[in-house]
Amino acid sequence: MDKNQNLKCRVYLKKGRDKSVRNYHPWIFSGAVQKVNGSFNPGDIVGVYSNEGQFLAKGFLNPGSQIRIRILTFEDESIDDQFLHNRLTQALQLRMHSPFLHTTAYRIINGDGDYMPGLIVDCYNDILVMQIFSLGMHRLRRHLMTLLKSVFKPAAIVERSEGSALAEEGLSAENGIIYGELPNKIIIQENNIRYVVDVLNGQKTGFFLDQRDNRLRISALAENKRLLNCFSYTGGFSVAAAQKGASTTSVDVSASALEIAKQNFSLNGLESSKHEFVEMNAFNYFSGNKDVYEVIVLDPPAFIKKRSHLPRGARAYQEINKQALQILEPEGILLSCSCSAHVSWELFQKILFSAAKESGRKVRIIGKFSQPLDHPVNIYHPEGEYLKSFLLSVH
Ligand code: SAH
Repeated sequence: MDKNQNLKCRVYLKKGRDKSVRNYHPWIFSGAVQKVNGSFNPGDIVGVYSNEGQFLAKGFLNPGSQIRIRILTFEDESIDDQFLHNRLTQALQLRMHSPFLHTTAYRIINGDGDYMPGLIVDCYNDILVMQIFSLGMHRLRRHLMTLLKSVFKPAAIVERSEGSALAEEGLSAENGIIYGELPNKIIIQENNIRYVVDVLNGQKTGFFLDQRDNRLRISALAENKRLLNCFSYTGGFSVAAAQKGASTTSVDVSASALEIAKQNFSLNGLESSKHEFVEMNAFNYFSGNKDVYEVIVLDPPAFIKKRSHLPRGARAYQEINKQALQILEPEGILLSCSCSAHVSWELFQKILFSAAKESGRKVRIIGKFSQPLDHPVNIYHPEGEYLKSFLLSVH
């Protein structure tokens, strides 16, 4: 740990470019850096100073990334095992206070939202799944593992570091069990519903924990109704609604996700044969579909991963929402989500406005929901609020 702290290297910012650090934003972009004094290894923890030499922060230095520094602290303190331990305990305390803990699966560390840049840790019962997105955190892997083992005594730790964000940090994918052994099947419980989670081959860390509260909302709203769950993954929303008597159709391109969705129905005493599972591109589903629904959930993957995808991604959101609005029964409900960090609330509402206009339906907003309490957003880092969901009443 100590060798990651480079006390000899200092980063000086350009004159007048220290405003965002003084506003506690945890990222410093390459353009704000005046000079790096002293030798360093990529991923070292270094001090950040204003042009005038005033201490501002400490963070991971990555010369290969546009985000040149990822800040760990704004205090001139030692970043050692005790520091990491404190951060983890703080994260846990927040979760202990939370009323959402009707679940055996939740996010323990949410990156910058828990002041741990580039680190995600999810727990599924006694299994931990870690995702690392920054070079600095990658270099602390061993320390993090030791810490997680001592605090949680997990049965296993799995690493699922993959995706497009890695290349920018100079990292390559790391997937697999890094400690302990996995049971044959991991079955979590969320609000009285049981779900199978494939932590090794599933998407992200295995389950979309960020939709927990919305699943609960939809289960109540879709009671005894016809639900279309588009981009269903392993049927999270479908099973929650089916348990309340809804008849459901789950649409996803992934055959393996739908296979688990069927298992999830059986696991909860629901007959999957009474429900529909459609392996298809959701856009094609709408064009060939003649059915109507009382409740629709649209929870697509991020259509806009980079700023340059904005126009194309916005059109995709608009098109799919228009299609969904057109096949809703009068007094229907649409839960429409975007998990693209680049799409603001304002932009998403504009997109939904255009979709509503094109569909010719009357649409009212009856709720706006973001991530649940185990996905905290640092107020100084608004980019952390990636999930935007609108609950719409449609006539
Ligand atoms: N709502 C889910 C999570 C959805 S994740 C839950 O609560 O668990 C997004 C899903 O969209 C993934 O399962 C992915 O396989 C699927 N997907 C991606 N592109 C798609 C497309 N064009 N059509 C249908 N499904 C798609």
